Amino acid sequence: MKTKITTIAFDADDTLWVNEPYFQQAEKQFCHLLEDYLPQHTISQELFKTEMNNLHLYGYGIKGFVLCMIETASRISNQTLTLEFADNIIAIGHELLQKPIELLPGVEKTLEQLKGKYNLIVATKGDLLDQERKLKNSGLENYFHHIEIMSDKKPGDYQKLLKHLDCRPEHFLMLGNSIKSDILPILELGGFGGHIPYHVTWTHEQHEPKLQHDRFLELKSIDHIIHYLK
Ligand SMILES: [Mg+2]
Repeated sequence: MKTKITTIAFDADDTLWVNEPYFQQAEKQFCHLLEDYLPQHTISQELFKTEMNNLHLYGYGIKGFVLCMIETASRISNQTLTLEFADNIIAIGHELLQKPIELLPGVEKTLEQLKGKYNLIVATKGDLLDQERKLKNSGLENYFHHIEIMSDKKPGDYQKLLKHLDCRPEHFLMLGNSIKSDILPILELGGFGGHIPYHVTWTHEQHEPKLQHDRFLELKSIDHIIHYLK
């Protein structure tokens, strides 16, 4: 890379550790609870609709997800469900909030190699307390100079982060699994983006057309970034 990258930011969920498979498991459990009402596929669609309607109010994370499951269950059942049913949904949320942290392959090795050479940052969406828990349990906390738990990942949100870090976009590289949230906003600001694909992507984060950009890197896995930085 011909530029001087000084700061590397990492997305967390499905970039540093497993996340989306846990949400998909939870969604399956939720659909199972409601299987007398509608087919699984339709319940999933209804839940997604509720999530999109509430995104501007709840933001990203498990707490908002639980409220959306309760709202969806109420709607699907024509408000006939009991509070006991809501308890079952809350239990799904509690389970999600206590999932173990499973680091993705190559993460620790890569951070170890970058440590001391770059300012390493975590830039993630999600519930504040939950992301703090995951970071603490990941054992990765000491690699990072700064942790930013963001309510959204729009260009304006990254602009605030760059200002806070006192970093110019051309010195900034963002790595993550979501083209939409981790790459496009940073390219728009003049920074670098590296995509690390993960095998499952939440519908909301999906991006179809193949991206072509001179500040964009398509990486096979997280450790491939080392070759580009040489
Ligand atoms: Mg992610």
